[in-house]
Amino acid sequence: MMNNDSKAYLKQFSDLYDDNIIINNNIESSSFTLNDFYEDIKDCKKCSLSDTRTKLVFGVGNPNADIVIVGEAPGKNEDLTGEPFVGRGGKLLDKILNSINLNREKVFILNVLKCRPPENRDPNPGEIEKCEPYLKKQLEIIKPKLIVALGRISAMTLLKVKDSLTNMRNKIHKYEGVDLIVTYHPAALLRNPNFKRPTWEDFKLIRDKYLDGK
Ligand code: URA
Repeated sequence: MMNNDSKAYLKQFSDLYDDNIIINNNIESSSFTLNDFYEDIKDCKKCSLSDTRTKLVFGVGNPNADIVIVGEAPGKNEDLTGEPFVGRGGKLLDKILNSINLNREKVFILNVLKCRPPENRDPNPGEIEKCEPYLKKQLEIIKPKLIVALGRISAMTLLKVKDSLTNMRNKIHKYEGVDLIVTYHPAALLRNPNFKRPTWEDFKLIRDKYLDGK
């Protein structure tokens, strides 16, 4: 058994080195929080999107969420407000979440890219490569039980595969040991209402397998 002094020392060490340390045989996560991480990256200038962004869009929600939703990149409204999914697609995402008794306070919502690509063009591979460590770190801090990838870019970034959304749907993948489900991006649903039914099937699976009456 460790005494309180040893625990305090290990905690201090863990804080200093942003490490995970075993205390009393439990992994006690380091005290490095999402807020700390936001402070670290909020002025990021790793790529040229920092020249055109208004606000870096870090993500919102419950830092202890069991479910993390991963979109693609901020659009115009997100760039202005600093919050992900606040436009039309965001309203639809809220509706979908509500339909299985979830909301923005229960999950964490973030994007692969933290800054808006001009004219909402697709993120390019260089931007994804530079920004991806941020996504990885966020997921390490949150430690969700399920990651929901919205759309092909998010899914391909996390799964490191090049495939169609249809092929990636309807399976439970793994990201660093965490379950990952791929579904349509809300913008795709707005363009093509035929995608609504399969999306509903995906969220029903999420409800039945991960929400357990919560
Ligand atoms: N589309 C995304 O993928 N993310 C947002 O935050 C907004 C639109």
